[in-house]
Amino acid sequence: MIIDCHGHYTTAPKALEQWRKAQIANLATPELGPKVADLRISDDELRESIETNQLRLMRERGSDLTIFSPRASFMAHHIGDLRTSATWAGICNELIHRVAQLFPEHFIGAAMLPQSPGVDPRTSIAELERCVRDYGFVAINLNPDPSGGHWKEPPLTDRWWYPIYEKMVEYRIPAMVHVSTSCNACFHTTGAHYLNADTTAFMQCLTGDLFKDFPTLKFVIPHGGGAVPYHWGRFRGLAQELGKPLLQQHLLNNIYFDTCVYHQPGIDLLTRVIPVDNILFASEMIGAVKGIDPQTGHSFDDTRRYVEAASIDPAQRALIYEGNARRVYPRLHAALQAQGR
Ligand SMILES: [Zn+2]
Repeated sequence: MIIDCHGHYTTAPKALEQWRKAQIANLATPELGPKVADLRISDDELRESIETNQLRLMRERGSDLTIFSPRASFMAHHIGDLRTSATWAGICNELIHRVAQLFPEHFIGAAMLPQSPGVDPRTSIAELERCVRDYGFVAINLNPDPSGGHWKEPPLTDRWWYPIYEKMVEYRIPAMVHVSTSCNACFHTTGAHYLNADTTAFMQCLTGDLFKDFPTLKFVIPHGGGAVPYHWGRFRGLAQELGKPLLQQHLLNNIYFDTCVYHQPGIDLLTRVIPVDNILFASEMIGAVKGIDPQTGHSFDDTRRYVEAASIDPAQRALIYEGNARRVYPRLHAALQAQGR
């Protein structure tokens, strides 16, 4: 089985974007709407948006199930206040739930949190609970920078974030550390801000001792871990200078990297440098890079091709495709078992 741990609903019907635009237009006068009930999207529209896009590509490329979350760049936690984010997250998560209900063999949810800059992360817990208990979601996306590129929150190792971690441990759900749109002109959203955040999250964990307090907490760092695998020697050296344990003990019981790296040399490096146990298959399609690579004639984000061609044995490939995901996402494993898979 091939589990893609990183997919977003980037192809939601236009009505969703229109609702969000109306919400933003009335930030100062929310009493003028729109109301949640003003958004009407039929099951047929949802079905079509998935069947002609993500599911079509999953069938073509041979992946079976996607851990599916709201569109990351649309989270835009920097817009409005907590109430703005809470309403928006509720709507986006419900759509993911409906997609998972329509295609239970192919999609399972991961929650967007109603984060807002400077607001206590405790305020995200009610939505997190709803998504896990009522919707059967198996993970969350945690934005380390709700400001959208200005980095105003404490590092992920700070006690500020602990209420979220306590809930994650209780529910046995991992977090994908995933920022949203950059509103800082210096950082392109998917080309710089995402990769910066991946690297930053790893280094925050390296300098801290978060996993001493939460030995079972799990983070998935997307986009192949940003700069981390490429600079593994730097990080090992820094850990040594800081008197930290070897990275294997210090971080690799808790941190995982996905395969959203869009060329063969990148996946070759990832699988050579990072232990196979810490790599999860993912494509993040349909996402940041939709084009065809003229060097290969295939889509940049058809990451299965790179994993197939990597110098690893079949047992290792099976871990990347399936085994590791079942371990990192215990609720996914349980849901699959309940389906006889
Ligand atoms: Zn993503």
